[in-house]
Amino acid sequence: MKRPIFFIFFSFIFLFTLAIAEEGMYPLSEIHRLDLQSKGLEISAKNIYNPDGVSLIDAICKVGGCTGSFVSPEGLIITNHHCAYGAVRRASTPEHDYLANGFLAKNRGEELAATGYTVRITESYRDVSDEVLSAITDDMDYASRSKAIEKKIKEIVTRVEKENKGKRAEVSEMFIGKTYVLFIYTYLKDIRLVYVPPRTIGNFGGETDNWMWPRHTGDFSFMRAYIGPDGSPAEYSPKNVPFQPKKYLKINPEGVKDEDFVFILGYPGRTYRHRTSHFLAYEEDIRMPFVVNWYQYQIDLMEKMGANDREVQLKLSSRIKGLSNVMKNYRGKLKGLKKLHLVDKKRQQEAKLQKFIEANAERREKYGDLLREIGNVYTDIRKNADRALVLSYLRRSSSMLNWAYSIYEAAVERQKDDLERKSAYMDRNFDDTVKRIKMNLKSYHEPTERILLKQLLLKAAALPKRKQIPAIERLVNKNGEKGIDDFIENAFTKSKLTDEKFLTAALKKTPESIKSMDDPFVQLAIDLFPTYQQQEKINKSRNGKLNKLYAQLIDVKKEFLKTDFVPDANRTLRLTYGHIRGYSPADAVYYKPISSTNGVLEKTTGRPPFDPPERLIQLIRSKDFGQFYHKCVNGVPVDILYDTDTTGGNSGSPVLNAKGELIGVNFDRAFEATINDFAWDESYSRSIAVDIRYVLWIAQKFGGAENILQEIGAAK
Ligand code: GLU
Repeated sequence: MKRPIFFIFFSFIFLFTLAIAEEGMYPLSEIHRLDLQSKGLEISAKNIYNPDGVSLIDAICKVGGCTGSFVSPEGLIITNHHCAYGAVRRASTPEHDYLANGFLAKNRGEELAATGYTVRITESYRDVSDEVLSAITDDMDYASRSKAIEKKIKEIVTRVEKENKGKRAEVSEMFIGKTYVLFIYTYLKDIRLVYVPPRTIGNFGGETDNWMWPRHTGDFSFMRAYIGPDGSPAEYSPKNVPFQPKKYLKINPEGVKDEDFVFILGYPGRTYRHRTSHFLAYEEDIRMPFVVNWYQYQIDLMEKMGANDREVQLKLSSRIKGLSNVMKNYRGKLKGLKKLHLVDKKRQQEAKLQKFIEANAERREKYGDLLREIGNVYTDIRKNADRALVLSYLRRSSSMLNWAYSIYEAAVERQKDDLERKSAYMDRNFDDTVKRIKMNLKSYHEPTERILLKQLLLKAAALPKRKQIPAIERLVNKNGEKGIDDFIENAFTKSKLTDEKFLTAALKKTPESIKSMDDPFVQLAIDLFPTYQQQEKINKSRNGKLNKLYAQLIDVKKEFLKTDFVPDANRTLRLTYGHIRGYSPADAVYYKPISSTNGVLEKTTGRPPFDPPERLIQLIRSKDFGQFYHKCVNGVPVDILYDTDTTGGNSGSPVLNAKGELIGVNFDRAFEATINDFAWDESYSRSIAVDIRYVLWIAQKFGGAENILQEIGAAK
């Protein structure tokens, strides 16, 4: 398919904050002007991205929220262990504990369905900013502005999906309120597990080592994408056949060395580098500390609940992992914000910008109030943040309330015209929404849920009088804390929401029949509904306002800095480049960029999370390294460090050498680099990958996965 290139929206590249040479998650349309050859690339930019033919990007895919890449003509995908984790957990039972023991399919027939997983491949994209922005007029109030943009995007997506049967369309906002790009994706729905190392390798070091260097984690797994026998994307069926990608990556088993040029293709999730000091200060003072505390509470609780019961552990393990990952990332960010004085730095930059604005009458007229207005939005957000955060987590952290609310919301939304509904309830998404809810049932554990809900209700009840949430106030008023206990006892005893059939059927009912349901959670959700509606209206209005203001901010920044910008990451395909390189995280400390199997032994304590399988220890001790032995590390290289610009969503991204060959799979960042999402800097921004040599060595010597090595052309 021809890929229309667009230039308009990236007519400016670069950052307001820290203008460092190699920062940047570049959209594909930009890479031709980067002169990557002068940095060390040995192939042409066209080999990476060719709108008129096949190129490396055709081998890149999105695996759920992660990235993956095709490594064989038969749809074999390499991604992270932590990206396949959910599927492995769902396939595991105490009898078949693939999470603990790993999993290998010796042939196609043995592969396991990766329930709930999908794979997307970018087919084409084009700028649709004019069409999206045609939906708004200057006299619209902010909430209407927000709504109009949302609706226009839904219209475009629905139309394009009709024109391109079987594909998924998405319109992504590149610069807030300014530029919008339509992406068309091939969407594969039958994904299977092929090889996963045991947790003690794939997650070696666990939370202790997460977001840290030096690292010794074998964070990789192999999956395979299937399509229907007629060649179209299809749900899981034994009749399906392996998907044949247009392109797959060549592996280079020789790996890399210090200072080698590398680049990464992937789907980075979210960065916030174009936001103002007001946003950063809100994150630093309010939102992130709240989340850190609440997540820590949940993690402690879930760990306690699963302490002596493998079944409970398995149920809760994905949730614990997800919560811990975010929590530690936020701790890193909070530390970085303080250490780098980022809010102050932003304020100083904004003061300079304000001076520039004031210096010219026309600019003053147009932008004079801009920064103040943005600041006002955040002042407003701060005033009610405690209430808004409790409301938000009430729905997010309590599974029962979440399902009950979704049932009622689905009923209300599905009465509306398709384009008027919230995205999750539109026809194009509703089946996936139901599937996701059903899947969440697998991590439900009632005793944990009871305690979580009580804690949330206590938080709500503790809000100041004028911020009380009416539905909760009524519930508590009945009897104070006892009111909460009574509700919980009655609700969990009575509710049938954990019955999959009941839940699925309830998701398709009318508002009237939901209202007559005798389920305490559903009744509480209905009671809470007006409060959530009101909060959403407020959020829409704020977003509408910010949407307008941030667009203006980009305009005036461009005038001020006379330079270009890269849009923040937004889950669309990007390229970043850099070098295998160590760094100095603190005075008198230098981190080398390649770790080795010797470090695995050094860290081993025999207790989680440093408890590698005995057989791995033996392989290392007996120096059974085969072709993967490297003198420079006196063993097999395990993980590598490099100065590219990545964020969450880049998990599983291929790390490629100067020739475009696969030499690693990106999975993390160093602790100091968690701040990347707000500000990148060469001195501290380091990303981490599992070295391809460790992947191949583990698959071959530990996993006995000769079939995979054959398939990817790495067998000797
Ligand atoms: N390890 C990270 C995560 O799980 C992904 C990569 C990154 O954020 O740098 O979110």
